[in-house]
Amino acid sequence: MSSNKKIEALIRPEIRALKAYHVPDATGLIKLDAMENPYSFPEPVKREWLSALQQVALNRYPDPDAPRLRERLRVALAIPDGMELVLGNGSDELIQIILMAVARPGAAVLAPTPTFVMYEMIATFAGMKFTGVPLMPDFSLDMPAMAKAMAAQKPAVIFISYPNNPTANLFAREDIVSLIEQAPGLVVLDEAYHAFAGQSFMNELGKHENLLVMRTLSKQGLAGLRLGVLAGPRPWLAEFNKVRLPYNIGTLTQASAEFVLTHLALLDEQADLIRKEREKLFQALSALKGVQVWPSQTNFLLFRVEKGDADRVFEGLRRRGVLIKNMNSAGGVLKNCLRVTVGTPEENGAFLKALETSL
Ligand code: PMP
Repeated sequence: MSSNKKIEALIRPEIRALKAYHVPDATGLIKLDAMENPYSFPEPVKREWLSALQQVALNRYPDPDAPRLRERLRVALAIPDGMELVLGNGSDELIQIILMAVARPGAAVLAPTPTFVMYEMIATFAGMKFTGVPLMPDFSLDMPAMAKAMAAQKPAVIFISYPNNPTANLFAREDIVSLIEQAPGLVVLDEAYHAFAGQSFMNELGKHENLLVMRTLSKQGLAGLRLGVLAGPRPWLAEFNKVRLPYNIGTLTQASAEFVLTHLALLDEQADLIRKEREKLFQALSALKGVQVWPSQTNFLLFRVEKGDADRVFEGLRRRGVLIKNMNSAGGVLKNCLRVTVGTPEENGAFLKALETSL
């Protein structure tokens, strides 16, 4: 049998139909495509961090329970007493852990769309059915459509990105509470952009037995570490913990994250700066003719090129040295939309200048 035939025979058709998650090459470009924090540690903090890393025993496996790190996260994230947490190699891995644990034949995953694409991708990896319920034109939740989809699909898990990537808004709190109350299964509030939103469901944990809250350090300057946190009631997390690979959080990540969590003021300062820059960038984009920009509770802005062609503008920006994210191919409410991550004042200035000449 040729290897093509073997691939057809062995690899599931839904996997063959997928495209691998594409990360464009940003070499030499101002990188405003992936919601990274543009700031690194100040030099003295960097030296302290490197000296903490010198204590790490790389010849040993990491502690699979990471008790010190978990304790620091519990305090830093204000996880309510009595709730448990599980750590992941980024929140991507936590989504995978949750779905692996519930993926019985026919089980479904639901999310309002457009949203973070990994919910659908990982549902597919796990052999689950994914249903996206389109948001209203103002990016609010379509509650009747969500209720209908819940009744039809009986989803094992509903993912809600709060705030939502890529629309940058927070859904109405009362809508989310109503979803949690109606949901036949779990509701995961993905609070990846919490540092820029100031709103959270962390305090609601335990009030609803089907609510889980997910956070990540990625948007706070630590995307390279790969550390996500899932918080929720102990009985659920005990099950998810069984699916987690024992050494999923490497020693260097554990040591680095423990160190960073002793510098919370620094993370807060950087988030503050990014929020201020976001407002300036929002004003500047609002003032541009032919651009529609939406308010943001995150570290990125979604905007539409009103007349014409987002693909051309995206390429124009790239030619001028700025990489952002082109959302146009997703279609629907994202037609002619582009997404830009808030960078340093200099990076944002360069982006605006390049945009004006690319429009
Ligand atoms: N959730 C949302 C809503 C995101 O936008 C992202 C990253 N783009 C993630 C989760 C993944 O984060 P991590 O780096 O922790 O895997």
